[in-house]
Formats: sequence, C-alpha cells, structure tokens
Amino acid sequence: MKALLGGKGANLGEMTKIGVPVPFGFTITTEMCDYFLKNSKYPENFASELEEKLNLLEAKMGKKFGDRHNPLLVSVRSGAAVSMPGMMDTILNLGLNDDTIKGLMEQSGNERFSYDSYRRFVQMFGNVVMNVDHDHFEEALEKMKEERGVHLDTELTADDLKVLVLQYKQIVNDNAKQEFPENPLEQLKLAIEAVFSSWNNDRAKTYRRIHGVSGLKGTAVTVQSMVFGNLGEDSGTGVAFTRNPSTGEREFYGEFLMNAQGEDVVAGIRTPIEISQLRRVNEEVYDQLIEVKNLLENHYKDMQDIEFTIEKGKLFLLQTRNGKRTSQAAINIACDMVDEGLLTRDEALMKVDAKQLNQLLHPQIKRSAEQNVVTKGLPASPGAACGKVVFTSEDAMAMVEKHEKVILVRKETSPEDINGMHISQGILTARGGMTSHAAVVCRGMGKCCVAGCTDIIVNASAKKLLIGDLVIKEGDVITLDGSTGEVILGEMEMQKPELTGNFKRIMEWADEVRSLRVRTNADTPEDCRVAVDFGAEGIGLCRTEHMFFEDDRIKLVRKMILAQSTDERVEPLKKLKQVQKEDFVGIFEVMDGRPVTVRLLDPPLHEFLPEREDQIELLAKELNRSAEDLKNSIGNLHEINPMLGHRGCRLGITFPDIYKMQVQAITEAAIEVSKKGVKANVEFEIPLVGEVNELKFLREITQQTIDSYGSDVNFHYMIGTMIEVPRACVTADEIAAEADFFSFGTNDLTQMTFGYSRDDIGKFLPAYLDLGILEVDPTSSIDQKGVGTLMRICIELGRKVKPDLEIGICGEHGGDPESVEFCHKIGLNYVSCSPYRVPIARLAAAQAVLRKK
Ligand code: PEP
Ligand code: MG
Repeated sequence: MKALLGGKGANLGEMTKIGVPVPFGFTITTEMCDYFLKNSKYPENFASELEEKLNLLEAKMGKKFGDRHNPLLVSVRSGAAVSMPGMMDTILNLGLNDDTIKGLMEQSGNERFSYDSYRRFVQMFGNVVMNVDHDHFEEALEKMKEERGVHLDTELTADDLKVLVLQYKQIVNDNAKQEFPENPLEQLKLAIEAVFSSWNNDRAKTYRRIHGVSGLKGTAVTVQSMVFGNLGEDSGTGVAFTRNPSTGEREFYGEFLMNAQGEDVVAGIRTPIEISQLRRVNEEVYDQLIEVKNLLENHYKDMQDIEFTIEKGKLFLLQTRNGKRTSQAAINIACDMVDEGLLTRDEALMKVDAKQLNQLLHPQIKRSAEQNVVTKGLPASPGAACGKVVFTSEDAMAMVEKHEKVILVRKETSPEDINGMHISQGILTARGGMTSHAAVVCRGMGKCCVAGCTDIIVNASAKKLLIGDLVIKEGDVITLDGSTGEVILGEMEMQKPELTGNFKRIMEWADEVRSLRVRTNADTPEDCRVAVDFGAEGIGLCRTEHMFFEDDRIKLVRKMILAQSTDERVEPLKKLKQVQKEDFVGIFEVMDGRPVTVRLLDPPLHEFLPEREDQIELLAKELNRSAEDLKNSIGNLHEINPMLGHRGCRLGITFPDIYKMQVQAITEAAIEVSKKGVKANVEFEIPLVGEVNELKFLREITQQTIDSYGSDVNFHYMIGTMIEVPRACVTADEIAAEADFFSFGTNDLTQMTFGYSRDDIGKFLPAYLDLGILEVDPTSSIDQKGVGTLMRICIELGRKVKPDLEIGICGEHGGDPESVEFCHKIGLNYVSCSPYRVPIARLAAAQAVLRKK
C-alpha cells in the first residue's frame, strides 16, 4: 500500500502486523495530500476523522493529547511511495506546551530531558511550520553554551534549557510575527499541513527530477506516538542496515547512542558506537534487535535500513525501508539471498538497479575524504579519469609522447579533436549536451566525458580555464567522474571494472530470462572485443565515419571531398577503400558470425574539413592549390543547419562514389574473412531515409556493387535502413518494401520529432527540466509519448508488409533501462548500445520480461 500510505506508513503498518514492536500511530494518505494541495483545504469529514483516530490512539497508549498529567506526544512524519531521504519535513515531540511539559516531567521524572524535548520541538515546529530559519535557534543555543562555558548540548542544565525554550519562542514570535501555538490539536493540524506542503519544496522537487520520480500523488503523513531514547542511560537510539550497504557482506551494520534522540546519531556531534557493542550494554535488547532484523529481512526479502529506539529498556522500531546500496553490494546481496533460499533467481534480478551497474563498468574513483570537487557538468560518458589538463589536440599529443596522461579540455569538440580525444584519459567540455559530438564519441570509446560544464570558461589560447576565481593552467592535474559529472582538483586513485563472480552470475541469469537481444555500437575491433566480453550478440551500429578521422585517413578524406573532378576523386577513394577494408576484416574476425550492421557515411562533409588557417594552408600545399581557392571550396560546403542538411543518404545520392567505395570495402572484407573460415554476417545500412525513393535508389547501387563480385559473395547479408526521420515512421509500409531490416536512430528521431538541435539542446534543456516543462531528458530516455508513438506506428506499418521484419534500436537510448523496457514492450528484436552499457541492457531486458509477467 505504498502508493496510498507512503513507504514509511505502509512499512509501519506491516511491521505491526508481523509482530515487530512499533509505537502506535495512524497514517493520513497521499490522496489527502493531493486533495489538500489542489484545493488548499480538506474535505468536510477530515477534521472529525482526525479527532476520531486521535481518540483511538489515546486509548491505545493510555495517554491524552494536551493532558497536563499524562500527555500524549506524537511525531508527524512525511513519507512518499518512493523514499526521498531528508527531502521533506518531520516534526517530533508535538503536543508539548507550557502545561503538558509538566506531565512529561511527571512521567519521565527527568526535568532536563523534558525541557530538552521542548526546545527541540519549538525549533522544529518553528522552522518547518512557521518558516523560521534554523540559524536563529542555533545562534541562541551557541550563545547559551558560551555563557555557561560548556561545549556540548548535553552539558546544559534543565534550567538552561528552560530559558532556551523561552528564547526560542521569542525568536518564533519575532520572526514569524505570530504567537507559538499552545493548543496541541492546532499544532497537529498545522504540522500536517506543513508536511503536505513540503511535497513541493525546492529540495523535494529537485530530488524527484534528478531521480526521475514522477506520477506520485504526494506525501503521506504518519502521526505516531513518541518514544524516547533520551530518558536516561537505559534508553537509546540507533540506525542500522541488515547487511553491509557498501560491500553487501552479511553483517549487521550500524550505530547507536545511549541516552540520545535520533538526530544525535546522524548529526555528528557525539560519536556513535558500533552496533555490535549494544550486546554489552543490553544483551536482551540486542538479541531482540537481531531477531527483528531477521524477521524483517525474511519478510521483505531485501536488505533493510532500520531506525530504532530503546525507551527504558524496551525496543521499538521506528522505521524500516529497503536500504540504499552500491551496485557491488546490490549484486552480492541478490546472489547471497538466492543461495540462502530467500529469493528466486527472477526475484534476485529485480533487486539490482540496472542503471546503477554503470558504477561497475568503468574505472571508478576510489572515494576519499579529501576530494576537492570544483564544479559539475553533465555526466556525458561514464568512468573516471585523471591527468594533466591540455587545451588542444596537438598539445595532448605532445604531452602523451612524453608519457604523460592528459585530460583534454575544450569549449566543445569537433571531429578535428578526435586524435586528441583518443589519446586523452578523459574529455571536459564547456558546451554540448548528452548527445553532443564529445559525448557520443566518448561513450563509443568508453572514455570518460564531462560535457556542458557551463561553470568553466575555457581560454585555450592562454592555456587556462577559469571556474569562478579558480584558475587551472595547462599541466595542472584534474580528475573527472563521468558518472556524476564531477570535476575534482588533483589526482584520485582508480579501480578497474571486471565482469566476474556474482556480477557474471547475475548476467547469466538475465540472459536466461530476456527475449530482447543486445548488440553494441562499435567502430573498431578493440571496441568489439570489449563488447563481446560484456556479452554483446552483434553490432547494431558501426559508424563508418569514425574510421575516417584518424590522422593519415583524414587527409585522404579531405582530398576526396575537395576533389574538383570525378577523376581526381578516384585515387583517394581507392586508398580509403583499402584502409576501410582492413578495419572491417578486423571487426568481422572479432564478431565471427554475429550480425554486424554497417552504416554508410552519415555526417555532412564539411565536418571533415579543417577550420584553422594553418591547417588550411597546409592542405592547400598538399593539393597544389591556393589557400584562397581552397577556402572557397570549403566555404561552398558550409551549411546553415548541417544536422538537417546535406548528410546521410542525401550525401550517398549526390556522391554515390563514396557509398560504392564503402560497399566495396565491406564486401571485399567479408569475402576475405570467409576464405579464412570466419563467418561474416553483414547488414548494409542506409542512414537518414525519409522517402522510400531515397532507399530504392541507394539499395540498387548497393545491390549492384555487391553483385559485381559475382559468386565470390558467399556470406549472409541484408540491406536495410535506419529509421530516424519522422516521415520514415509514418510511411514505414512503403519503406519496408525496400528494406530487409529497420534500426531506429533515436538520436536523430528525437531531434527531428521535437525539433531540438542535438548540438544546441544544452542551452535550454536544464531550464526545461528545472521548470518541469520536460520531466526527463529525451536525449537520454525515449520520449515514449511522442517519439515512442512514432516508433509504434512504424513497427505496425512495417510488419504489416513484412511480418518478420527485424527491427532494432541503435540510438543512445539503447542502453537506458527504461527505454530498453519500452523497446521490449513494442516488440523490437534487439537494442544496441555502447560496449560499456551492454550489461545494463542485458539486465534491463530481463527485468522488462519479469515486470511484464
Ligand atoms: C541516431 O541518430 O540515433 C544514430 C544512432 O545515429 P547518429 O547518432 O550517428 O546520428
Ligand atoms: Mg543519426
């Protein structure tokens, strides 16, 4: 009943049911929160029902709300369906006033404790309900300690605290311009309202956005009788995990303090004691706690994060929830619980957060207390890297020659930077989004990248970057965390990824369950190797242009592009064919019979041309042309909007020789490896088709080129298309007639569906997310409503013509768990993602099956 009662409320109810000692209480539903936030009032029967439940609670506890001899005190706690630690508000000790404080003293026989509870209540209530800043109270407390010449809160006497209560109330009056309410029922109503309203505070909203939490009604409010851990040395409080949340080890893991309230344990003022020591303090309670821990794990079949209080030797559980854990711990706990007979394999697969596996798939920073995070950008390509800062590809290469490790820092990257990127440990850019050039290339390379880091000002000519007042110069060492987007000053220690042990076991279980196949986006034999080791079953996208970027090749590409006649183009094309062929041989050998989708050239030609004056002059010399003349040619290729311009199949149609050359290289490579007994399984892919005649035209050229090799063609192949233009989706029946397969290029499809430029989205996306105009970044997770609808239409139309049409996805979304689930639902055959996300997709694909079940 989490949706209705919130995680906390539901778990408290359930704990009561299974016999765990819990202080009595009741929960006001999330539906009431929704009603209240929408209408700014409660339904008619709310007040009477609240009083009725309160009466019940009084009867259960044998105490009375507002009674000066035997007062009932309650906590008012928030709790949504999804745990949002610390994001919403909680009030403790509610019900105290100048009357009931006397009752509390009578009950506890402890004046100091009573006034301490009272001043804590005034502060919490004053802050949460009456919006008085915490600092005012802290100042008064500090002043009091100073005056009394003590260091710790616990050294203040009952009389000191009594004075503080008066001061605190004065602070509330002064700042809120309102009397502190003395009537407990009024306190309760105001507190409930404040907790409901905290659903929409900035912290909570930001948390939901970052964690992709949406579609919830609001927070529930649990009103629970107070138990006290600060009634003396036989009382105490603690927090614990039923297993180690960092490693997953099966050990009770937690801390406690005697004579303390919950906040003392977490606030860090007193040093808490390791949980096993509780046995020495009170063996009976310790044994009972262990029993409760086992009961809870067996009941919830998951590692629990619990809060408990001991009141005068009696144990109470205040809260239990599934504990947050590292991905390493998640995997180990899931496997151990299968071995312990607590979980089935299917259940275990659901306990591991696929997205979180990222942590295990790249080198990671060994975190230390002394990390100096100086700024944060977009976590564009995961992993971690550290090295000396450089500002150009040339400087990167010069440094690497001297055996230095470098981080390339650019305003934004361009294809010219590819060499520098390749040899750098990581890339940091001031501009660009999650599908910017730098991000896509880095993810492909498995290289760490922090992009769109708008706080930094890059001054490449002065070889320095600025972050506020901080100046980082060439040669200074920084560390990037591509999984969080953090930029850290100095060198951090790293650890390597491995797919072994329990990680491997979980992956094998996932493979048994999933029906969606998992391929990879890879352009080099090395990337293919990594992907195959991570379990890739084929290549879903080989971007052939990436093969053009390397040093010698880019010169040939430039010659080809700038050729002034067809004849002039023959020579560079011939040489390029040879090098491309070698690449394909390497790829086919690694993939050995697994399908390999090779996409013909996609980006606009000008991306390959030099921009800098000195490079243009150099090229002019080589081509025997004047720099002026060359600049004109380059200028002619300039486009206002290249992403929607002369690229993809449009290029193939206007420069058919380039596509022919590529088809030849692929065919010859396949023939060559076949002779060596290696199977080639090729999918020739035409990009950016929006009109069937484009595909028809290029299919014919492709087919003729392959046919020209006659009976030598002894490998399996298909000719198909990417689906990345909205028009292709809605005319998919026509297109299917000419295609042996479809592959959704959701990067472009998202760009063209929204009309958001992939390369410029960084300028407005953060604002859109902040303002809630978009709930999630559509470049990371498929926009199921818009882009997803186009995909569904496409699949339906395509398979009407060809029921067995193979359909996959190769956009960046192929490695995003929610998108993978969506792809499973709409009936794709495979997803394809960067090598380092293959295990994530394998697990997500299995979870999609289990969730549907
Ligand atoms: C796409 O558009 O989704 C795609 C995979 O192609 P690219 O990112 O190379 O444009
Ligand atoms: Mg594309």
